[in-house]
Amino acid sequence: MNELFLKRMHDLLKDDYFVFLKSYDEKVRKSFQLNTLKTDGDILKNIDGIEKMNIKDGYYYDMESLGNHPYHHAGLFYIQEPSAMLPPLAIDIKDDFKILDLCAAPGGKTHILSKQVPNGYVIANEVNYKRSKKLLSNVERLGLKNVLVSSMSVDDLLVKYRNYFDVVLVDAPCSGEGMFRKDKEALKNWSLDKVKELSILQKDLLKKASLLVNSNGHLIYSTCTFSKEENEEVIKSFIDNYDFSLVDVKREVKMLSTNGFIDKVRRCYPFIFGEGQFIAVLKNNQNVKPYIACNVLKNLSKKEEQEYNVLLSKYLKNKPFILKKYKNNIVALEKNIEIPDLSLLCCGVKVGDYSYNKFVIHHQFVKAYGHLFYNTYNLNVNDKEVIRYLKGEEIKGIVKDGYGVLLVDNYPLGLYKASQNRLKNYYPKGLRIKDS
Ligand code: SAM
Repeated sequence: MNELFLKRMHDLLKDDYFVFLKSYDEKVRKSFQLNTLKTDGDILKNIDGIEKMNIKDGYYYDMESLGNHPYHHAGLFYIQEPSAMLPPLAIDIKDDFKILDLCAAPGGKTHILSKQVPNGYVIANEVNYKRSKKLLSNVERLGLKNVLVSSMSVDDLLVKYRNYFDVVLVDAPCSGEGMFRKDKEALKNWSLDKVKELSILQKDLLKKASLLVNSNGHLIYSTCTFSKEENEEVIKSFIDNYDFSLVDVKREVKMLSTNGFIDKVRRCYPFIFGEGQFIAVLKNNQNVKPYIACNVLKNLSKKEEQEYNVLLSKYLKNKPFILKKYKNNIVALEKNIEIPDLSLLCCGVKVGDYSYNKFVIHHQFVKAYGHLFYNTYNLNVNDKEVIRYLKGEEIKGIVKDGYGVLLVDNYPLGLYKASQNRLKNYYPKGLRIKDS
């Protein structure tokens, strides 16, 4: 353990310091958030050692790893440490809210936000392009239909989205002190200089993020670190300069956290709940004019509409979506939404692409609407063929020739193309299980 880090924790926690230290010898409990957009959770009886947590859709699990479990590939849950689930649940969110998740990768909090706005949407933004690809992959795996993914700086977002959002979540880059119990390596990168450097970045990020919030809208600021410099100091310097006020978090979140060092902010420590989290909710008191979006989503031409209707009718039992055009892609959306002209990695569910003049259904579409396909092949979770499919192998099954969707216990995994009962594997290469 880093001596300076420990001294600072002692100064911060006083009498609680020894309970904190003791928690480092205790077992870290692993957990996930259930994807209730896909399943009601009855299916979890098929996994040993699952225990419901006292937080919405949260479960503890005992297995060594769930990352390669077929249900994980099917997008039925997102593996996430308990206290990281709290920030998106800290306020009442109306089902038609427009939300920005400013620092979103790999997407744990985006998932929780998405579940709360069936009639609205979440823009999941990640400035680091490489990390935004991971975010996109999780959005696809979970089949989130109301999440748009972008990779922009907060300055770029300000050009298009000034005072636009009902909620902006700033899950800020931080020194990650709350991760030290789980990830001993993270401790090696820690220094006081880094804490101070990050505090400057966080102040700047919060200030700019506040300009994206509409009148009476909310900013949620969170970190997974303990230092006051990255938490209370950031909030204090913000409310001293901007017309936002701190508000209480929801009771559910309050019960699982403890007081911070200014009124209304909340903290989690390993001896309270999860690994470590700071949460502050700020309400915009200013009367600001929202930016009016000009829509980049275009209608399909009559010819395109007809072509896609014929194409999709071949595969799907019904079409509970509308089709729109985003740049060169045809996308499926559950609701007609207005999106300012942005560079988005994903805007709605991509239907498919033409490859050598042949139309191939996109993996994202399979994850979101695969259960509606005529041609499916359903396997039990314990069937060895499921893992063979997830490894990218060809499998055998009595199915109709042509494209179809492989299901595990009725949940879509990916596409196949069958010919004489051989199922050619279309599970994307980057997602396949690798032999260890
Ligand atoms: N919210 C994510 C989740 O729940 O899965 C975790 C986000 S992580 C704590 C912070 C993110 O902020 C990182 O993905 C990092 O790349 C991003 N980041 C780093 N510098 C940034 C900056 N200057 N502006 C915006 N985001 C930044």
